[in-house]
Amino acid sequence: MSMTTVHRIHNFSAGPAVLPLPVLEEIQRDLLALPGVGMSIVEISHRSSTFETILARADADIRTLANVPSNYRVLFLQGGASLQFSMVPMNLLPAGAIADYIDGGSWADKAIAEARKVGRVQVAASTRAESYRRIPLQSELQLSRDAAYVHMTSNNTIEGTEYKQLPDVGDAPLVSDTSSNMFSGPIDVRRHALIYAGAQKNMGPAGLTVVIIREDLLHRAAEKKSSLPTMLNYGTYAENRSLYNTPPVFAVYALGLVMKWLIGEGGLPAIGARNERKAAKLYAEIDRTGFYRGTAAVPDRSRMNVTFRLATEELENRFIAESEAEGLDGLKGHRAVGGMRASIYNAFPEAGVDALVGFMKDFERRHG
Ligand code: PMP
Repeated sequence: MSMTTVHRIHNFSAGPAVLPLPVLEEIQRDLLALPGVGMSIVEISHRSSTFETILARADADIRTLANVPSNYRVLFLQGGASLQFSMVPMNLLPAGAIADYIDGGSWADKAIAEARKVGRVQVAASTRAESYRRIPLQSELQLSRDAAYVHMTSNNTIEGTEYKQLPDVGDAPLVSDTSSNMFSGPIDVRRHALIYAGAQKNMGPAGLTVVIIREDLLHRAAEKKSSLPTMLNYGTYAENRSLYNTPPVFAVYALGLVMKWLIGEGGLPAIGARNERKAAKLYAEIDRTGFYRGTAAVPDRSRMNVTFRLATEELENRFIAESEAEGLDGLKGHRAVGGMRASIYNAFPEAGVDALVGFMKDFERRHG
């Protein structure tokens, strides 16, 4: 039962984004003192057994949820997914080697720019010339022989496209930026060498990045121990169970609650089915008459970020202003692409999708 009497609007933000209400209520309930501890989560030492248990439980719940094999480590870092754009090549790209990058969206483009500062990069395929409206095809991939790794972005937050099937990269280690669709459905960890994601979309508050890394890649990081700054070496986090220095204590705690919520909701298959249903409702409305125009190629449409446009920018501005007035917040598309974007991550309620569909029908009646 909800203890909250405050009015909550429908929050379509791309991130930080809506969190599950039961999680917020638990945080609120325990904010002054964790049960049996007598201190708040934002006051306790990261060296306390209370926090060590919270961190270990978050780690264990991530493993349970995603079936993380025992030869992978879960690391908790800071610096956002953006720092991973640098850490991935710094740790995994030896001098003289080459890394392949699949350029399927604006965030991939940023990852490429950072990797180029570190070492040799080959762009294996790019849909930039098509404004990233689709995911590069398997047949377009030009993979290097012996690439140190292949980097991809599983969901393009800005353009609203998503991989439906992982690319086949042969024996090369696959590194994936899953920031905007982490744990939105089943994920085959085994087919990846490294997965990273900022927490602030599907997993918790901002300030925390989750990295799942296959242990053999830690050997590459170990070789860089004397040259890389300590805080930029994955080995530091692996060797110290993410407690080398002070981790973002509150964010780890909140992420743990979200993982517990996900497990309670039936795990990734159940949440995946719900996300499919939510997105299908929205795309059905977009496609219904032609008044709205989906911007992503249909087979690659994201279940997380639904992007669409109207005939004129004036109409789009009106859509955003009127939807805001109705308590539908955050529908303005990323400034780089314009139009509208509805981000409907795990915790976004189906009732909010229904409210948006209702608003879209009404808006079309009035302006179509
Ligand atoms: N990659 C993707 C796919 C993203 O959506 C974002 C953030 N929107 C980032 C990377 C950057 O994340 P951060 O802000 O955590 O650095």
